[in-house]
Amino acid sequence: MSKPLVALLTGAGISTDSGIPDYRGPNGLWRQDPEAEKLVTYEYYMGDPEIRRRSWQMRRRNEALRPEPNAAHRAVAELERSGVPVRVITQNVDGLHQLAGMPDRKVLELHGTARSYVCTKCHARGAMTDALARLDAGEADPPCLECGGILKSATVMFGERLDPVVLADAVAITKACQVFIAVGSSLQVQPAAGLAGIAADHGARLIIVNAEPTPYDELADEVIREPIGTALPELLRGLAGEEREPQP
Ligand code: ZN
Repeated sequence: MSKPLVALLTGAGISTDSGIPDYRGPNGLWRQDPEAEKLVTYEYYMGDPEIRRRSWQMRRRNEALRPEPNAAHRAVAELERSGVPVRVITQNVDGLHQLAGMPDRKVLELHGTARSYVCTKCHARGAMTDALARLDAGEADPPCLECGGILKSATVMFGERLDPVVLADAVAITKACQVFIAVGSSLQVQPAAGLAGIAADHGARLIIVNAEPTPYDELADEVIREPIGTALPELLRGLAGEEREPQP
């Protein structure tokens, strides 16, 4: 019998131990500050060079923080290395799952990644560090080197659609998995939140690890309110152990 597939949906809460605040959630920093929200809203970004200059300064400040993966990110990567089939669906743009050792192809980034830039015209991509090096060299709003178009972070801004291919992959994994663990997500932002319901509908064991109650707690087989940095490694070690022991 093939090993059960474990899917994790991760939100801002898994990265707070790495020093990254919740920018984007329903009560996130961006939602509380309309001026800051403009920096990550497509319409304002495309229409206003001053907004773009401020966005690039924000990206440069974020890059300077150099957040590191924490115990929870490492535990997910360790589960994968132990031979259990694992897929991560993340609402985060920080790339910390991959930095912890998760293979890139096993991480679906619903909101894109802040570690790359993308051209809004020709869709050329590159490393964010390359774009930021151009800032350091004096460009306030570096244009695309291929076509002169406006560059942005490869994250999904407010006013942009999620990548339909990434979303379809996330739904397929959610339907196929036997265990679905939602970690550090308030499960209030669609369509990510709806994945928890899809998982339950398709018979997965639904486990929610979050400090605050979520709308899906009643559907869950298990709800864990302990701090993610200790609770998730413990939970995942348990799952890996179940894998090694013969099932009755
Ligand atoms: Zn371009």
